[in-house]
Amino acid sequence: LKANNARSFWHPMTHPADSLKNAPTIITGAKGVRIRDIDGHEAVDAVGGLWNVNLGFSCDVVKQAIAAQLDRLPYYSTFRGTTNDAVIELAEELRLFFEPDGLSRAFFTSGGSDSVETALRLARQYHKVRGEAGRVKFLSLKKGYHGTHIGGASVNGNANFRTQYEPLLPGCFHVPAPYTYRNPFNEADPARLAQLCLAALEDEIAFQGAGTIAAFIMEPILGAGGVIPPHHSFMPGVREICTRHGILLIADEVITAFGRTGAWSGSRLWGVQPDMMCTAKAITNGYFPFGAVMISESVAQVFERDETGRAAIGHGYTYSGHPVGAAAALACLAETQRLRVNENAAARGAELHAGLLALQGRHEAIGDVRGGHGLMLALELVADRATKKPADKAVPARVQQVAYQEGAMVRVSGANIILSPPLILTSGDVQVILSALDAGLSATGG
Ligand code: PMP
Repeated sequence: LKANNARSFWHPMTHPADSLKNAPTIITGAKGVRIRDIDGHEAVDAVGGLWNVNLGFSCDVVKQAIAAQLDRLPYYSTFRGTTNDAVIELAEELRLFFEPDGLSRAFFTSGGSDSVETALRLARQYHKVRGEAGRVKFLSLKKGYHGTHIGGASVNGNANFRTQYEPLLPGCFHVPAPYTYRNPFNEADPARLAQLCLAALEDEIAFQGAGTIAAFIMEPILGAGGVIPPHHSFMPGVREICTRHGILLIADEVITAFGRTGAWSGSRLWGVQPDMMCTAKAITNGYFPFGAVMISESVAQVFERDETGRAAIGHGYTYSGHPVGAAAALACLAETQRLRVNENAAARGAELHAGLLALQGRHEAIGDVRGGHGLMLALELVADRATKKPADKAVPARVQQVAYQEGAMVRVSGANIILSPPLILTSGDVQVILSALDAGLSATGG
């Protein structure tokens, strides 16, 4: 198995040569917040699968719901005149869950990239239906991550995810993100930086022409870009600017929805109602590939009033509204709310954040500690704190390797160590993660 893992399987986001040299760890089992590899080694999964396994790996109610649905109706299409009962029930539960976010309709997808693609398509179509066909461009944040499809890649803020696939979707422009530790304005005050970034957004809109822009897409807390929470004034500022210019605000909450930030959604954390919200990941906690785009009443009304005879919603996936995914999502949503996992995320997140700040006191290699909003945290490693020169990539890789040996799986992204454990984490698990990181950092001499 180990040899075949590198020989016949191309692993995503991994150089094939790396897989051959350094065979990826084969995970063979998991229970609660712990994973077990092929050698029988166990670790707390501080990655939470891939930011998605909020309820942990052994949620019986979800497994039972999936099994029952498989027995009853494994699949039926939701296209043109048919639907299924599980997905209708889910749409209604999501409408209630996202009511405070002002979102009332659900369009179902097979995952996060699909959700982003759908939101971009709906945004363009919304303006066309309203007679503003010239609104086709998209704005997004530098360092934002919006998935793998060509639309999502085009709005990705990180050039590494874009340039290999050019030419991409024309009309996508990226504006500075409020990243306090490093920014083009050299501004260390988060509130002032938020204002500067909002001014840069205004400038870009003026430069492009507001009437050419369909939507602004952003993550309420930048995830894959290195867990970068903005100042609390930033997203409300973006909302105000978008509203004033008739630009739709798409919240990409593939990571932040369903409690990870301590609030039920990242938009709610900042007191913002987006026009659309992309969700996936924790909607089914990894038990089934699934996603949903939530749509506001006012956007929905535009589509619902279109009586031109065109298909109001001109796209869909074979698995838009998969009944087994819907059954998994219904069980996850009920369990997520019953356990109030957002509250545990906030409490354990605060402990983990305090622990990381303490580690920064002992390890020179930690340039920046980011967290403070639930279980979404990062350490940014540097070669030199004064110059903020990023750590050589061997350093975070070594920290990860030793931390895993010491009982915690963490994720490396650039010079960042990212933590997004299941939201059912205990204080004991927090300590395991902290001491594993401490050992990893000590091993690198940082
Ligand atoms: N948007 C965001 C914010 C994400 O973090 C991700 C995945 N990490 C995606 C979109 C793409 O989701 P998926 O991998 O399920 O296609």
